[in-house]
Amino acid sequence: MKQYKHSVSLDIEKCKGCTNCLKRCPTEAIRIRDGHAVINSDVCIDCGECIRRCPYQAKKATFDHFEDIDAKKYRIALPAPSFYGQFVDLDDVDYVLQGLLDIGFNDVFEVARAAEIVTEYTRRYMREENVSYPVINSACPVVVRLITLRFPYLCDHVIPMMPPIELAGKMAREEALQKHPELKPEDIAIVFISPCPAKASYVKNGFLGEKSHVDYVVSMSDIYFKLIGVMKKNVIPKAVSQSGMIGMSWASTGGEASALFNDKYLAADGIENVIRVLDEIETGHFPMLQFVELNACPGGCVGGVATVENPYIARVRLQALRRYLPVSQNRLEKDDNEGYPEEILFPKDLEYRPVGKFDEDLSTAMQKMSEIETLAASLPALDCGSCGAPTCRAFAEDVVLGGRSVDECIVYMRERISELGKNPEQETDQSSGEDQP
Ligand code: SF4
Ligand code: SF4
Repeated sequence: MKQYKHSVSLDIEKCKGCTNCLKRCPTEAIRIRDGHAVINSDVCIDCGECIRRCPYQAKKATFDHFEDIDAKKYRIALPAPSFYGQFVDLDDVDYVLQGLLDIGFNDVFEVARAAEIVTEYTRRYMREENVSYPVINSACPVVVRLITLRFPYLCDHVIPMMPPIELAGKMAREEALQKHPELKPEDIAIVFISPCPAKASYVKNGFLGEKSHVDYVVSMSDIYFKLIGVMKKNVIPKAVSQSGMIGMSWASTGGEASALFNDKYLAADGIENVIRVLDEIETGHFPMLQFVELNACPGGCVGGVATVENPYIARVRLQALRRYLPVSQNRLEKDDNEGYPEEILFPKDLEYRPVGKFDEDLSTAMQKMSEIETLAASLPALDCGSCGAPTCRAFAEDVVLGGRSVDECIVYMRERISELGKNPEQETDQSSGEDQP
């Protein structure tokens, strides 16, 4: 399998091995080895939860640098809708868009604009026959990767439609080539201003074998600090924004779903809630739902780790900004029943790609599973993390599958030593046999 390129990584010098991240990683991707955290790249979904939890800032997100893009002839900024919620007293998004031009971008294309088009296509998709309900949104790359790693029965529930970031990248390049026929496609840099590291990983890896239409992903906080120095409150900016209430609503939880005008929806945010909802859907607990909007970050994209503002405050600001906007500035001209273009759809089906399979051979896999169950039952069930695994069950898997020694569990060892103290003959018996319980 091709190695997945991650944006979340560890600064080993700063890591104290404190186990805070270990306990909160939703996919149990972290272990503590030799006094510091190690991330299993096969299982990490770039949710950024470990960045939020680390008290020593040892976990970090890697983005492209604004300065790296200078070499490109024509730079187009793609601000995410959540970007507008970062600014105090902003009453017109054109101040932000003008600021982006002032710091060196040649053009801007709002992702909110593409989001309004995706909303229209989603409505059409939901009216088709043979749709697998509930339809799950595809906008959050953390959720999509999580489903492909862990929820085999939900892969065909994910709407097979490219997220707004992709459509925005594609449209931005096409429009630039039309406006400036002297440009070649390679002269153009499409730069997404991202609230989270998962979007950076998504762009680096491409999606389902296709290269992303976005070329660079810069952090929202990086651009925010460049922008506040140049934004001029006393100069009325040119009216360039082309998005409405619907596009802006995608920034926070429930915005995408409520724009579908279909009451049978559920919207959840925060990675733990997302996993809970996916578990429930997989077990068939929500038969009445038609659409499920899931966002890994608390509050939706406004809660991404690369934002600067508290997500609740950002959300309130966006509500105020939306108030005077038209519902949408991107209604499709064609009749509502006319479907959608081929290129908006996933290039191929989303596939379940499990990692950490016990074994290719079914009987060996069953045997390993049984060994894990037996060992897990003999462990203290404290989930203390002192062995370097997040739970006793994960430690049992590490012993059976990953060659760790059960002696690394200090509670198990203490109990064993205490038993040996009471019954010294046991040592002679055990030393001649297997080391496992
Ligand atoms: S939270 Fe994780 S990365 Fe941060 S110091 Fe503790 S073990 Fe290291
Ligand atoms: S980014 Fe998320 S999945 Fe990856 S190691 Fe951190 S907490 Fe775990």
